[in-house]
Amino acid sequence: MAVAVIGGGYAGMAAAVTLAEQGVPATVFEAAAHLGGRARRVTFGGLKLDNGLHILLGAYHESLRMIRLVNRDAERALLRSRLDWRIHRRFRLRLPPLPAPLHLVAGLIAARGCSIGARLAAARFVRTLTAPDFHLPQDTSVANLLAVHGQHDVLARLVWRPLCVAALNTPPEEASARVFINVLRDSLGAGAGDSDVLLARCDLSALFPEPAAHYLNAHGGTVLTGHTVSRITLHSGGFDVEARGARSRFSHVICALPPHRLPPVIAGIPQLEHVSGTVARFQYQPIFSVYLRYPERVVLPAPMLGLANCLAHWVFDRDAICGQRGLVAAVISASGPHQMLTQDELALRVHSELERHVIPLPRPSWYRVIAEKRATFACTPGLERPPQRTPLANFFLAGDYTLADYPATIEAAVRSGVHGAREVLRSLNTA
Ligand SMILES: Cc1cc2nc3c(=O)[nH]c(=O)nc-3n(C[C@H](O)[C@H](O)[C@H](O)COP(=O)(O)OP(=O)(O)OC[C@H]3O[C@@H](n4cnc5c(N)ncnc54)[C@H](O)[C@@H]3O)c2cc1C
Repeated sequence: MAVAVIGGGYAGMAAAVTLAEQGVPATVFEAAAHLGGRARRVTFGGLKLDNGLHILLGAYHESLRMIRLVNRDAERALLRSRLDWRIHRRFRLRLPPLPAPLHLVAGLIAARGCSIGARLAAARFVRTLTAPDFHLPQDTSVANLLAVHGQHDVLARLVWRPLCVAALNTPPEEASARVFINVLRDSLGAGAGDSDVLLARCDLSALFPEPAAHYLNAHGGTVLTGHTVSRITLHSGGFDVEARGARSRFSHVICALPPHRLPPVIAGIPQLEHVSGTVARFQYQPIFSVYLRYPERVVLPAPMLGLANCLAHWVFDRDAICGQRGLVAAVISASGPHQMLTQDELALRVHSELERHVIPLPRPSWYRVIAEKRATFACTPGLERPPQRTPLANFFLAGDYTLADYPATIEAAVRSGVHGAREVLRSLNTA
């Protein structure tokens, strides 16, 4: 018995850790020099940055469990706060420390920036959609869902639209209402702590994938970075994994590649043609991150602040999060007009938005734009996502794109990895 995990992102590392926990050492093949995939460290200007600011929710139970399992500094590594939805000078919704659903009702009553009618409609909307007996007969767009449930324009613009874009990385007109409801159910509609916002105080490679690699090494596993898998082929009783011109033989494979990298790797396995066909139909959405370096005295009004009518959706004060003084990071999710700008134009545009709408600012001493063009799959209504189990016994898929309640998120990735590993363990126990 030998298990290969292909891909050292959050899904692959969660799979390998779950196996190691049960005494099954795996070999992880990762193409890049560093672990983390779409949630990884990027070093620039002597600072440890991320390829994109990531928000975790209190509802990410599986991710938090995994992080705690491998990262001894887990509690310090995450800055946890109650949801404070703050769109600069337009809207603010803070959830008080009350049990759910009282926290939401009280938060909405006290919210600033829209009429009482709009707030009541929002409370009804969340209660209806998160009730245990609620069932959406057919998936539709989030925009349609908001219209059917009479959501006022102000809340649609300042809460539901930004929430949809932040969570599903897909504009409401194209986003799946079913997946959006799942996110609402598990965050605003669940226990009070589930809507908490968690921001990493260390970089995203150091948060989970790297401590996971230490955990694996200590439990007999192997992590091979710089090992791009070019092909997996089937042979009697197992799989050949080809990387760096060498072949290794495994009885089980958990393939945790990003969806667009999957088809060429499994092209030689006819039983997986349907999987390749399914992911080939995916569309992708980008996420742009803009880091701006200001003098150390520059401080934003909040660690995380939403902007209305700007290209930048959210801005983060990195000092408040991880002690990087004077560093501001802006996030622009999903497709939009920002994609027409050069990186210089985009950075200076975000700078002028901050200067005009938030605080007076000198010119940044440097900036860095990181464009992840395929940040996530477009989470559209009725999208077919492949299950983790494939027609091949002992070959499982993991990754944020596999069949799940959640959009492409860290939690979807981790859950899929844990699930894939449990499938392997089940097959080993029944062999
Ligand atoms: C900019 C940005 C912002 C985001 N913001 C959030 C957020 O706020 N909250 C949230 O929950 N999620 C967010 N996400 C989504 C989250 O990062 C992903 O859902 C998650 O990281 C996906 O993990 P994964 O393991 O499924 O895939 P990946 O991270 O893509 O991992 C796959 C791994 O496979 C490796 N690989 C590729 N080809 C090969 C090969 N041939 N051989 C070997 N290895 C290979 C890759 O290098 C990679 O390490 C964001 C994503 C981006 C890009």
